[in-house]
Amino acid sequence: TDGGKAPRILLNDGNTIPVMGFGTFLGFDEKGQKEVKENEVELPVMWALNSGYRLIDTAALYHNEEQIGRSVQKSSVPRENVFIVTKLAVNEQRHVIDSLRASLARLNTSYVDLYLIHFPVAFKPDHSGFDVVDYLDTWEGMEEAKRLGLAKSIGISNFNISQIDRLLANCEIKPAVLQIEVNLNLAQNELMKRAKKDNIAVMAYSPFGSLFSKSDIPPPPRKDHPVLVQIANKYGKTTPQIVLRYLIQYGVIPIPKSVHKERVEENINVFGFELTPDEMKKLAEFNKDYRVVWPSFWQDHPYYPFEKKDVSDPDLFKWGEKTE
Ligand code: NDP
Repeated sequence: TDGGKAPRILLNDGNTIPVMGFGTFLGFDEKGQKEVKENEVELPVMWALNSGYRLIDTAALYHNEEQIGRSVQKSSVPRENVFIVTKLAVNEQRHVIDSLRASLARLNTSYVDLYLIHFPVAFKPDHSGFDVVDYLDTWEGMEEAKRLGLAKSIGISNFNISQIDRLLANCEIKPAVLQIEVNLNLAQNELMKRAKKDNIAVMAYSPFGSLFSKSDIPPPPRKDHPVLVQIANKYGKTTPQIVLRYLIQYGVIPIPKSVHKERVEENINVFGFELTPDEMKKLAEFNKDYRVVWPSFWQDHPYYPFEKKDVSDPDLFKWGEKTE
Protein backbone atom coordinates (compact mmCIF):
# COMPACT_ATOMS: atom_id res chain seq x y z
CA THR A 1 0.00 0.00 0.00
CA ASP A 2 0.97 3.67 -0.09
CA GLY A 3 1.03 4.12 3.69
CA GLY A 4 -2.53 5.41 3.87
CA LYS A 5 -4.29 4.32 7.05
CA ALA A 6 -7.95 4.70 6.06
CA PRO A 7 -9.42 2.04 3.78
CA ARG A 8 -11.39 3.23 0.75
CA ILE A 9 -15.05 2.71 -0.08
CA LEU A 10 -16.84 2.80 -3.42
CA LEU A 11 -18.83 5.87 -4.50
CA ASN A 12 -21.96 5.72 -6.67
CA ASP A 13 -19.94 6.90 -9.68
CA GLY A 14 -17.38 4.09 -9.48
CA ASN A 15 -14.60 6.10 -7.83
CA THR A 16 -13.29 5.31 -4.35
CA ILE A 17 -12.85 7.53 -1.29
CA PRO A 18 -10.94 7.04 2.00
CA VAL A 19 -13.26 6.55 5.00
CA MET A 20 -11.57 9.38 6.86
CA GLY A 21 -9.89 12.66 5.91
CA PHE A 22 -8.25 15.85 7.13
CA GLY A 23 -10.07 19.17 7.60
CA THR A 24 -8.34 22.49 6.96
CA PHE A 25 -10.77 25.26 7.89
CA LEU A 26 -9.16 27.48 10.54
CA GLY A 27 -12.40 28.97 11.85
CA PHE A 28 -13.12 32.39 13.26
CA ASP A 29 -11.69 34.93 15.68
CA GLU A 30 -13.09 38.23 16.98
CA LYS A 31 -12.54 39.84 13.57
CA GLY A 32 -14.39 37.17 11.62
CA GLN A 33 -12.91 34.40 9.49
CA LYS A 34 -9.32 33.91 10.63
CA GLU A 35 -6.59 35.14 8.35
CA VAL A 36 -4.49 32.24 7.07
CA LYS A 37 -0.81 32.78 7.78
CA GLU A 38 2.10 31.47 5.75
CA ASN A 39 2.65 27.72 6.36
CA GLU A 40 -0.19 27.58 8.86
CA VAL A 41 -2.00 24.94 6.83
CA GLU A 42 0.90 23.67 4.75
CA LEU A 43 2.66 22.08 7.73
CA PRO A 44 -0.40 20.35 9.21
CA VAL A 45 -1.26 18.94 5.78
CA MET A 46 2.30 17.63 5.49
CA TRP A 47 2.00 15.97 8.94
CA ALA A 48 -1.35 14.54 7.84
CA LEU A 49 0.07 13.01 4.67
CA ASN A 50 3.08 11.66 6.57
CA SER A 51 0.90 10.07 9.22
CA GLY A 52 -1.39 8.28 6.77
CA TYR A 53 -4.25 10.59 5.80
CA ARG A 54 -5.03 10.39 2.10
CA LEU A 55 -7.99 12.77 1.92
CA ILE A 56 -7.60 16.54 2.32
CA ASP A 57 -10.69 18.74 2.57
CA THR A 58 -10.48 22.38 1.54
CA ALA A 59 -12.62 25.06 -0.12
CA ALA A 60 -12.10 28.17 -2.19
CA LEU A 61 -13.46 30.13 0.78
CA TYR A 62 -10.78 28.78 3.17
CA HIS A 63 -8.07 30.75 1.33
CA ASN A 64 -5.56 27.96 1.84
CA GLU A 65 -5.61 26.01 -1.44
CA GLU A 66 -2.10 27.20 -2.39
CA GLN A 67 -0.68 25.81 0.85
CA ILE A 68 -2.37 22.47 0.29
CA GLY A 69 -1.07 22.37 -3.26
CA ARG A 70 2.47 22.94 -1.98
CA SER A 71 2.18 20.20 0.66
CA VAL A 72 0.89 17.65 -1.81
CA GLN A 73 3.62 18.61 -4.26
CA LYS A 74 6.41 18.39 -1.68
CA SER A 75 5.19 15.21 0.00
CA SER A 76 6.45 11.79 -0.99
CA VAL A 77 2.87 10.61 -1.54
CA PRO A 78 2.07 10.57 -5.27
CA ARG A 79 -0.70 13.00 -6.31
CA GLU A 80 -2.89 10.13 -7.53
CA ASN A 81 -2.93 8.63 -4.03
CA VAL A 82 -4.25 11.81 -2.43
CA PHE A 83 -7.99 12.46 -2.55
CA ILE A 84 -8.35 16.25 -2.80
CA VAL A 85 -11.72 17.82 -2.03
CA THR A 86 -12.48 21.46 -2.71
CA LYS A 87 -15.68 23.49 -2.80
CA LEU A 88 -17.29 26.08 -5.02
CA ALA A 89 -17.36 29.49 -3.34
CA VAL A 90 -20.79 30.90 -2.49
CA ASN A 91 -20.04 34.03 -4.52
CA GLU A 92 -19.01 32.16 -7.68
CA GLN A 93 -21.99 29.91 -8.30
CA ARG A 94 -22.72 31.47 -11.68
CA HIS A 95 -19.22 30.55 -12.87
CA VAL A 96 -18.57 26.97 -11.82
CA ILE A 97 -15.92 26.07 -14.39
CA ASP A 98 -13.98 29.33 -14.03
CA SER A 99 -14.09 29.03 -10.27
CA LEU A 100 -12.91 25.42 -10.36
CA ARG A 101 -10.09 26.27 -12.77
CA ALA A 102 -8.95 28.98 -10.35
CA SER A 103 -9.00 26.44 -7.49
CA LEU A 104 -7.01 23.97 -9.62
CA ALA A 105 -4.42 26.66 -10.35
CA ARG A 106 -4.08 27.42 -6.65
CA LEU A 107 -3.90 23.71 -5.83
CA ASN A 108 -1.39 23.28 -8.62
CA THR A 109 -3.14 20.22 -10.02
CA SER A 110 -5.11 19.36 -13.14
CA TYR A 111 -8.09 17.81 -11.33
CA VAL A 112 -9.71 17.46 -7.94
CA ASP A 113 -11.02 14.14 -6.72
CA LEU A 114 -14.20 15.73 -5.45
CA TYR A 115 -15.81 19.10 -6.10
CA LEU A 116 -18.68 20.19 -3.86
CA ILE A 117 -21.24 22.99 -3.98
CA HIS A 118 -20.28 24.51 -0.63
CA PHE A 119 -23.74 25.83 0.20
CA PRO A 120 -27.09 26.13 -1.59
CA VAL A 121 -27.02 29.82 -0.57
CA ALA A 122 -25.34 32.15 -3.08
CA PHE A 123 -23.79 35.59 -2.79
CA LYS A 124 -22.95 38.33 -5.28
CA PRO A 125 -19.38 38.14 -6.63
CA ASP A 126 -18.20 40.98 -4.35
CA HIS A 127 -20.03 39.45 -1.32
CA SER A 128 -22.14 42.62 -1.16
CA GLY A 129 -25.35 40.68 -0.65
CA PHE A 130 -27.37 37.60 -1.50
CA ASP A 131 -27.64 36.37 -5.04
CA VAL A 132 -30.47 33.99 -5.80
CA VAL A 133 -28.93 31.34 -8.03
CA ASP A 134 -30.94 28.17 -8.52
CA TYR A 135 -28.74 25.32 -7.33
CA LEU A 136 -30.08 23.24 -10.25
CA ASP A 137 -28.30 25.66 -12.59
CA THR A 138 -25.17 25.48 -10.46
CA TRP A 139 -25.38 21.69 -10.60
CA GLU A 140 -25.28 21.79 -14.42
CA GLY A 141 -21.91 23.47 -14.06
CA MET A 142 -20.81 20.74 -11.67
CA GLU A 143 -21.83 18.08 -14.20
CA GLU A 144 -19.83 19.90 -16.84
CA ALA A 145 -16.81 19.90 -14.48
CA LYS A 146 -17.05 16.12 -14.23
CA ARG A 147 -17.47 15.66 -17.99
CA LEU A 148 -14.37 17.79 -18.57
CA GLY A 149 -12.40 15.64 -16.12
CA LEU A 150 -11.65 18.65 -13.89
CA ALA A 151 -13.42 16.88 -11.02
CA LYS A 152 -13.45 13.08 -10.81
CA SER A 153 -16.51 13.15 -8.56
CA ILE A 154 -19.05 15.85 -7.75
CA GLY A 155 -21.26 16.45 -4.77
CA ILE A 156 -23.03 18.86 -2.47
CA SER A 157 -22.65 20.29 1.00
CA ASN A 158 -25.21 21.74 3.42
CA PHE A 159 -28.23 20.75 1.32
CA ASN A 160 -31.40 19.77 3.17
CA ILE A 161 -33.72 16.89 2.26
CA SER A 162 -36.10 18.81 0.01
CA GLN A 163 -33.17 20.36 -1.83
CA ILE A 164 -31.64 16.91 -2.32
CA ASP A 165 -34.97 15.53 -3.55
CA ARG A 166 -35.33 18.38 -6.04
CA LEU A 167 -31.75 17.98 -7.23
CA LEU A 168 -32.06 14.22 -7.69
CA ALA A 169 -35.30 14.65 -9.62
CA ASN A 170 -33.63 17.05 -12.03
CA CYS A 171 -30.02 16.04 -12.51
CA GLU A 172 -28.19 14.02 -15.14
CA ILE A 173 -25.35 12.99 -12.85
CA LYS A 174 -26.19 12.18 -9.24
CA PRO A 175 -24.10 13.71 -6.48
CA ALA A 176 -21.61 11.13 -5.20
CA VAL A 177 -21.10 12.79 -1.81
CA LEU A 178 -23.07 14.88 0.66
CA GLN A 179 -20.93 16.81 3.17
CA ILE A 180 -22.84 17.85 6.29
CA GLU A 181 -22.26 18.34 9.99
CA VAL A 182 -22.37 15.00 11.83
CA ASN A 183 -21.14 14.39 15.37
CA LEU A 184 -22.32 12.87 18.66
CA ASN A 185 -24.89 15.65 19.12
CA LEU A 186 -26.11 15.66 15.53
CA ALA A 187 -26.87 12.22 14.10
CA GLN A 188 -28.65 13.54 10.99
CA ASN A 189 -30.85 10.44 10.86
CA GLU A 190 -33.14 11.74 8.14
CA LEU A 191 -30.36 12.97 5.86
CA MET A 192 -28.49 9.69 6.40
CA LYS A 193 -31.53 7.73 5.22
CA ARG A 194 -32.02 10.03 2.22
CA ALA A 195 -28.37 9.72 1.18
CA LYS A 196 -28.41 5.96 1.54
CA LYS A 197 -31.38 5.65 -0.83
CA ASP A 198 -29.23 6.93 -3.72
CA ASN A 199 -25.97 5.51 -2.43
CA ILE A 200 -24.60 8.98 -1.72
CA ALA A 201 -21.63 8.88 0.67
CA VAL A 202 -21.85 11.21 3.67
CA MET A 203 -18.82 13.21 4.82
CA ALA A 204 -19.01 14.42 8.42
CA TYR A 205 -17.74 17.93 9.01
CA SER A 206 -17.14 19.28 12.54
CA PRO A 207 -16.92 15.63 13.66
CA PHE A 208 -16.02 16.61 17.23
CA GLY A 209 -19.09 18.84 17.61
CA SER A 210 -18.85 20.38 21.08
CA LEU A 211 -16.41 17.81 22.51
CA PHE A 212 -13.85 20.50 23.35
CA SER A 213 -16.27 23.36 24.06
CA LYS A 214 -15.76 25.36 27.23
CA SER A 215 -19.31 26.69 27.13
CA ASP A 216 -22.21 25.13 29.09
CA ILE A 217 -24.68 25.80 26.30
CA PRO A 218 -24.04 22.87 23.93
CA PRO A 219 -25.22 19.46 25.17
CA PRO A 220 -22.74 16.84 26.47
CA PRO A 221 -20.41 15.07 26.04
CA ARG A 222 -17.17 16.92 26.66
CA LYS A 223 -13.90 15.06 26.22
CA ASP A 224 -13.83 13.89 29.87
CA HIS A 225 -17.37 12.43 29.89
CA PRO A 226 -17.35 9.14 31.87
CA VAL A 227 -19.09 7.15 29.11
CA LEU A 228 -16.39 8.18 26.63
CA VAL A 229 -13.55 7.74 29.11
CA GLN A 230 -14.67 4.22 29.99
CA ILE A 231 -14.76 3.11 26.34
CA ALA A 232 -11.47 4.87 25.61
CA ASN A 233 -9.73 3.12 28.51
CA LYS A 234 -11.00 -0.25 27.35
CA TYR A 235 -9.27 0.13 23.97
CA GLY A 236 -6.26 2.16 25.12
CA LYS A 237 -7.46 5.07 22.98
CA THR A 238 -8.29 8.73 23.66
CA THR A 239 -11.85 10.02 23.75
CA PRO A 240 -11.46 11.99 20.47
CA GLN A 241 -10.33 8.73 18.86
CA ILE A 242 -13.45 7.00 20.18
CA VAL A 243 -15.63 9.71 18.66
CA LEU A 244 -13.96 9.35 15.25
CA ARG A 245 -14.16 5.55 15.40
CA TYR A 246 -17.85 5.85 16.25
CA LEU A 247 -18.48 8.05 13.20
CA ILE A 248 -16.66 5.69 10.86
CA GLN A 249 -18.69 2.73 12.12
CA TYR A 250 -21.84 4.86 11.93
CA GLY A 251 -21.11 5.09 8.22
CA VAL A 252 -19.80 8.60 7.64
CA ILE A 253 -16.42 9.96 6.56
CA PRO A 254 -15.13 12.24 9.34
CA ILE A 255 -12.72 15.04 8.41
CA PRO A 256 -11.27 16.26 11.72
CA LYS A 257 -9.09 19.37 11.64
CA SER A 258 -6.09 20.08 13.80
CA VAL A 259 -3.05 22.31 13.51
CA HIS A 260 -1.16 20.38 16.22
CA LYS A 261 1.11 17.59 15.07
CA GLU A 262 0.38 15.19 17.93
CA ARG A 263 -3.39 15.62 17.44
CA VAL A 264 -3.14 15.21 13.67
CA GLU A 265 -1.40 11.88 14.32
CA GLU A 266 -3.74 10.88 17.15
CA ASN A 267 -6.84 11.42 15.04
CA ILE A 268 -5.87 9.04 12.21
CA ASN A 269 -5.05 6.19 14.59
CA VAL A 270 -8.57 4.86 14.74
CA PHE A 271 -8.17 1.68 12.74
CA GLY A 272 -7.48 -1.84 13.98
CA PHE A 273 -10.15 -1.92 16.68
CA GLU A 274 -13.93 -2.00 16.65
CA LEU A 275 -16.61 -0.65 18.97
CA THR A 276 -19.26 -3.20 19.99
CA PRO A 277 -22.93 -2.77 19.02
CA ASP A 278 -23.60 -1.94 22.68
CA GLU A 279 -20.99 0.81 22.71
CA MET A 280 -22.33 2.15 19.42
CA LYS A 281 -25.79 2.31 20.98
CA LYS A 282 -24.54 4.08 24.10
CA LEU A 283 -22.75 6.71 22.01
CA ALA A 284 -25.79 7.18 19.76
CA GLU A 285 -27.72 8.30 22.86
CA PHE A 286 -25.80 11.60 22.87
CA ASN A 287 -27.77 12.71 19.82
CA LYS A 288 -29.78 15.88 20.46
CA ASP A 289 -30.17 17.04 16.86
CA TYR A 290 -27.98 19.94 18.00
CA ARG A 291 -26.14 21.83 15.26
CA VAL A 292 -22.87 23.69 15.81
CA VAL A 293 -22.54 25.19 12.35
CA TRP A 294 -25.47 27.41 11.43
CA PRO A 295 -24.67 30.66 9.69
CA SER A 296 -27.41 32.82 11.23
CA PHE A 297 -26.30 35.71 9.04
CA TRP A 298 -27.56 33.73 6.00
CA GLN A 299 -30.92 32.67 7.28
CA ASP A 300 -32.98 35.11 5.21
CA HIS A 301 -31.76 33.63 1.94
CA PRO A 302 -34.52 31.67 0.11
CA TYR A 303 -32.27 28.60 -0.15
CA TYR A 304 -31.10 28.66 3.48
CA PRO A 305 -31.11 24.93 4.28
CA PHE A 306 -31.45 24.80 8.07
CA GLU A 307 -34.20 25.55 10.56
CA LYS A 308 -34.40 29.29 11.29
CA LYS A 309 -33.73 30.47 14.83
CA ASP A 310 -34.50 33.57 16.87
CA VAL A 311 -31.10 35.23 16.73
CA SER A 312 -31.99 37.63 19.56
CA ASP A 313 -32.03 34.72 22.04
CA PRO A 314 -28.94 35.32 24.25
CA ASP A 315 -28.63 31.60 25.01
CA LEU A 316 -28.11 30.72 21.39
CA PHE A 317 -24.63 29.60 20.58
CA LYS A 318 -23.89 31.40 17.34
CA TRP A 319 -21.43 29.90 14.91
CA GLY A 320 -18.87 32.36 13.66
CA GLU A 321 -19.49 34.78 16.53
CA LYS A 322 -18.07 32.94 19.51
CA THR A 323 -14.89 30.97 19.12
CA GLU A 324 -15.35 28.59 22.04
P1 NDP B 1 -13.57 19.63 14.16
O1 NDP B 1 -14.70 18.83 14.69
O2 NDP B 1 -12.60 18.97 13.23
O3 NDP B 1 -12.80 20.24 15.40
C1 NDP B 1 -11.65 21.00 15.26
C2 NDP B 1 -11.22 21.49 16.64
O4 NDP B 1 -10.87 20.39 17.47
C3 NDP B 1 -10.02 22.38 16.58
O5 NDP B 1 -10.22 23.41 17.54
C4 NDP B 1 -8.87 21.47 17.00
O6 NDP B 1 -7.87 22.21 17.66
C5 NDP B 1 -9.56 20.53 17.96
N1 NDP B 1 -8.97 19.18 17.97
C6 NDP B 1 -8.79 18.37 16.90
N2 NDP B 1 -8.30 17.18 17.28
C7 NDP B 1 -8.15 17.23 18.62
C8 NDP B 1 -7.69 16.30 19.58
N3 NDP B 1 -7.30 15.07 19.23
N4 NDP B 1 -7.68 16.68 20.88
C9 NDP B 1 -8.09 17.92 21.25
N5 NDP B 1 -8.54 18.84 20.38
C10 NDP B 1 -8.57 18.50 19.07
O7 NDP B 1 -14.20 20.93 13.49
P2 NDP B 1 -14.17 21.70 12.10
O8 NDP B 1 -15.30 22.64 12.17
O9 NDP B 1 -12.82 22.21 11.80
O10 NDP B 1 -14.55 20.60 11.01
C11 NDP B 1 -13.60 19.82 10.36
C12 NDP B 1 -13.48 20.20 8.90
O11 NDP B 1 -14.72 20.07 8.22
C13 NDP B 1 -13.09 21.66 8.63
O12 NDP B 1 -11.74 21.91 8.93
C14 NDP B 1 -13.46 21.79 7.19
O13 NDP B 1 -12.49 21.17 6.38
C15 NDP B 1 -14.79 21.02 7.15
N6 NDP B 1 -15.98 21.89 7.35
C16 NDP B 1 -16.86 22.01 6.29
C17 NDP B 1 -17.97 22.81 6.40
C18 NDP B 1 -18.90 22.92 5.25
O14 NDP B 1 -19.71 23.86 5.23
N7 NDP B 1 -18.88 22.03 4.30
C19 NDP B 1 -18.28 23.55 7.63
C20 NDP B 1 -17.32 23.32 8.70
C21 NDP B 1 -16.23 22.51 8.54
P3 NDP B 1 -6.40 22.46 17.02
O15 NDP B 1 -6.54 22.70 15.57
O16 NDP B 1 -5.91 23.65 17.78
O17 NDP B 1 -5.61 21.21 17.34
